Amino acid sequence: MQFNKIIGQNDIKEHLIDTVKSKRISHAQLFLGPEGSGSLPLAIAYAQYILCSNKLDSDSCGNCPSCLKVQKLSHPDLHFSFPIHLLKSTRTSDDVFLEWKKQFETSIYFGLQDWYRTLGNDNKQGTIGTDESQKIVKKISLKSFEGGYKILIMWMPEQMNNQAANKLLKIIEEPPKNTLFILVSENQENIISTILSRTQLIKIPRLKEKELSDHLVKSESLSLEEAETYAHLAEGNVSLAISLMSDKEAASFNLDNFIKWMRLCYTRNVGETIDWVDSISGAGREAQKNFIVFALGMFRQSIVGHYADTDLVILTTAQRQFLDKFSPFINHKNIVVLTEVLNDAHYHLERNANPKILFLDVSLKVYAYLKRK
Ligand SMILES: [Zn+2]
Repeated sequence: MQFNKIIGQNDIKEHLIDTVKSKRISHAQLFLGPEGSGSLPLAIAYAQYILCSNKLDSDSCGNCPSCLKVQKLSHPDLHFSFPIHLLKSTRTSDDVFLEWKKQFETSIYFGLQDWYRTLGNDNKQGTIGTDESQKIVKKISLKSFEGGYKILIMWMPEQMNNQAANKLLKIIEEPPKNTLFILVSENQENIISTILSRTQLIKIPRLKEKELSDHLVKSESLSLEEAETYAHLAEGNVSLAISLMSDKEAASFNLDNFIKWMRLCYTRNVGETIDWVDSISGAGREAQKNFIVFALGMFRQSIVGHYADTDLVILTTAQRQFLDKFSPFINHKNIVVLTEVLNDAHYHLERNANPKILFLDVSLKVYAYLKRK
């Protein structure tokens, strides 16, 4: 990862490059920055710069064998350590390294929740445990493969338990020659103080909204206005801005499908309803469940008599006209039963019901209830 792939943070980049040029690389550094500030990508870009065999003035070359390996996260002298869900089969970061690589393919900016979701459970906290620190000590004690620096990047040292931290104290304090520990943290207060006192602190600030919105315009081809909205909502957090953008996509998906579905139910067009059922059945279970929740919200809002703009989606005139005409068909006579039908559907989707059968069945019920006046 080259520095030029990272948004903003020019002062930090200059400082890091300067430590290399002036040969003053402190052997244990703590990169402290909020989620979405780029502290993890900065740590990797720093490692790549240190390991690069053809350094440029303000970045690594990006082409030498060493850069190519770092870019694939497969340089033998660059090690990663991060919180994982401890199980029999997963004891250390190496056991889920494929997932770690996959996480970077989606975006170089991500937060803990994103990572836990990739691991398959975003309700469960991860840990950096004792097996991990034993392994770190072993890796760091080996000679470097390529004759240069050995670097360990530990993401979220605040998730390390006491025993694990204690095992690392000695090697962090007196590391072998040409060893660099980079701890990348969001919360200084949760790091065990004996570790903290052995590191040099580098504070990574939140991105400025302007930096983030400029980036969104360029890389996500948003209009300036949209980009500014996201940058503002996300308060400079790149990972949050990206997730808000995908929420918006989901919201338009839901709205488009809701309008289409209600039209079909209202006109009782069986042929096209079956086509629609086929298309929503291909959408994935989470998307289907979200859609049902969205439809429930739309029914409720029909009763209240107005549709709040669904957070980030601004209704088009056509959409609004449809919804205005549609809302009288939801009334106090059918709202209870329609709500029940959709709640049931959600319940069965969660229990792996066949979506084709389920959505067709629900559609036929909505046919019947929609016109009850
Ligand atoms: Zn290079």
